[in-house]
Amino acid sequence: MQKKPLLDIHTHTLMSGHAYSTLRENIEEASRVGLKVLGTSEHSSMIPGAPKQIYFVNFKVIPKEIDGVRLYNGIEANIYDENGSIDVEERTVSKVDYIIASLHLPCIKNMGPVNNTKALIGAAKNPAVTVIGHPDDSRFPIDIDELAAAAAEYHTALELNNSSLNPLSSRVDAPENCRKMLEACKKYKTMVIMGTDSHICYDIGRFDRAMALLEETDFPEEQVINFDLDRLGYVLRK
Ligand SMILES: [Zn+2]
Ligand SMILES: [Zn+2]
Repeated sequence: MQKKPLLDIHTHTLMSGHAYSTLRENIEEASRVGLKVLGTSEHSSMIPGAPKQIYFVNFKVIPKEIDGVRLYNGIEANIYDENGSIDVEERTVSKVDYIIASLHLPCIKNMGPVNNTKALIGAAKNPAVTVIGHPDDSRFPIDIDELAAAAAEYHTALELNNSSLNPLSSRVDAPENCRKMLEACKKYKTMVIMGTDSHICYDIGRFDRAMALLEETDFPEEQVINFDLDRLGYVLRK
């Protein structure tokens, strides 16, 4: 796959509580590596050390573009029950550009494959949610076929998370789970977005492992949001 990723919307700054760069450092790196779009998606409030909801309602002070990089402000929400409820207040929803919804261990326990899948589908069905983050972790086993079909139906993208594919990641079986996810996404024509899930500026825009997997699975280029700026709308709040 010769295509170049133009956007990265799963990134964190110091504000997430366990990440190590500032917004400015992330923007400078995005510009340096040639990204056209940088989205910042701090963890939502249930993660220890993450900002309270007030943090997410003042993004108007951030310029729309710096150093040739268009900036968007999202949030990585925590799914906290089997219905897919997320820890984002109503006032926050209208202030962010997009919401990634994810299962995170401090916020929810493994409920078993049936209820984990139900939770992710419930989140995908929420019109405020545009991306399901890292559905690739055997600590939260799911039926990926069911999720991919539902995500396509509700116009929600599934994330191919480059950090999950790092051997240092705490997520379990991600390479194998991501392969299955890509096969299911092919089958149901589900849109996929690569995310770096950067917790330090040096990871911004680095999609090496995700790109290798797209190549390996011969994944259709037109189903990958990162390769065309016209596809960005798919993951922005409707
Ligand atoms: Zn994090
Ligand atoms: Zn996450």
